[in-house]
Amino acid sequence: MRGAAMKVAIIGAGLGGLASAIALRKRGVDVQVFERARELRPIGAGLTLAPNGLKALNAIDPDIVARLLELGSQNSRLYLRRANGDLITEIPITFMDRYGQPMLNIVWSCLQKVLTGFLKADAVRLDHRLVGFERTNDGLSLHFDGRDPVTADVLVGADGINSTVRQIMVGDGPPRYAGRLCWRSVVSYQHPSLLPDEVTFFAGVDGRNFSMFDVGSGLVFWSATALWPAWPISDGIAPRQRVTEAFAGWAPLVQDVLAATPPEDIVERPIEDRAPLASWRSHRVTLLGDAAHAMVPSLGQGANMAFEDAWELAQALAGEPDTQAALIHYESSRIPRTQVVHARSAAQGYRYYDADNETFSRSVLEQASADQRAFEDWLYGWSP
Ligand SMILES: Cc1cc2nc3c(=O)[nH]c(=O)nc-3n(C[C@H](O)[C@H](O)[C@H](O)COP(=O)(O)OP(=O)(O)OC[C@H]3O[C@@H](n4cnc5c(N)ncnc54)[C@H](O)[C@@H]3O)c2cc1C
Repeated sequence: MRGAAMKVAIIGAGLGGLASAIALRKRGVDVQVFERARELRPIGAGLTLAPNGLKALNAIDPDIVARLLELGSQNSRLYLRRANGDLITEIPITFMDRYGQPMLNIVWSCLQKVLTGFLKADAVRLDHRLVGFERTNDGLSLHFDGRDPVTADVLVGADGINSTVRQIMVGDGPPRYAGRLCWRSVVSYQHPSLLPDEVTFFAGVDGRNFSMFDVGSGLVFWSATALWPAWPISDGIAPRQRVTEAFAGWAPLVQDVLAATPPEDIVERPIEDRAPLASWRSHRVTLLGDAAHAMVPSLGQGANMAFEDAWELAQALAGEPDTQAALIHYESSRIPRTQVVHARSAAQGYRYYDADNETFSRSVLEQASADQRAFEDWLYGWSP
């Protein structure tokens, strides 16, 4: 079965699901995305697209990247500061020269909207929550909450870290809490020391970090993390108060951006990941993005890996007439690479717990060692 003869169902209209749908449609595959949400609503987050993720999107459709470059904000410099605001070091970011694509900051919902715009309106079926699936004689039957069943030849679970498809297929329970909390928001905010192409990272002690950067359209994204013994929290304290207390006494810029953020716009989430899988395929079902390889966000690679997955999945399914062989090819091209990035993200996350995170961050960020450089070349130098 190849191309137009094949019917692919993707569960989840997140970044990975949308990118996969675009890639498959461009190769003539009949693809439908099923999303549990009733509407695609903006969420208070920004993210960084790295050269490898942008190269994957560019291979899927160069117009996507052209549009993102217009809307987002490119990084050219990183300022690493102590909790009190003192400058530790500044580092030029030269990824465009080195890898042919920049580091690009963008609002999460803006990215989702751009991707949706590359699909026909009927490509995403909202209000479709997958609750089960089973094998039939000639394919798969998918079951949705309160909806008629749908048949498909291939099922792609792009349904995120709490993936239903993964639970049915692998059954490995809830994600692992990584011991720290994250607060984040996108806010309309200006400050003379926050230039559009610069990232500011405040590194404190005991694993606390605060970063902020321009994400285009006059908006700033900030993200804060702190060690936290347990999740979920049931102390009745609002996220705004918790993050303000956790970062009390930090640099005036940190206090200022927190004060400028409407309390209801602050998102509080646990940092979590999942143990890597030796295989994420069964019969004609496969996983993609966080459903396949949820990792802690220390390297900012989750969405970038999902875009690489999307490209590789479309290549495999469109190029190989035997569907199961295509899915084997897809996972064997993705598992080794995503495991390295997963492990490296975890290692970097653990080291942020070091008592003197300022010293650690400095050593990491200033590292010109062959190891760090070789890793960057391997990670960002990836080509479709
Ligand atoms: C604090 C933080 C910062 C981050 N920063 C970065 C960064 O800078 N760069 C980067 O690359 N990555 C970053 N990431 C990671 C990135 O956000 C994720 O890896 C990425 O969004 C995963 O995309 P996805 O499509 O796999 O899953 P998701 O975006 O989670 O999408 C899953 C979709 O599936 C839907 N769904 C779930 N269950 C069902 C069901 N049963 N039926 C139907 N639909 C369903 C959901 O509603 C959702 O729309 C960060 C993550 C965090 C937590």
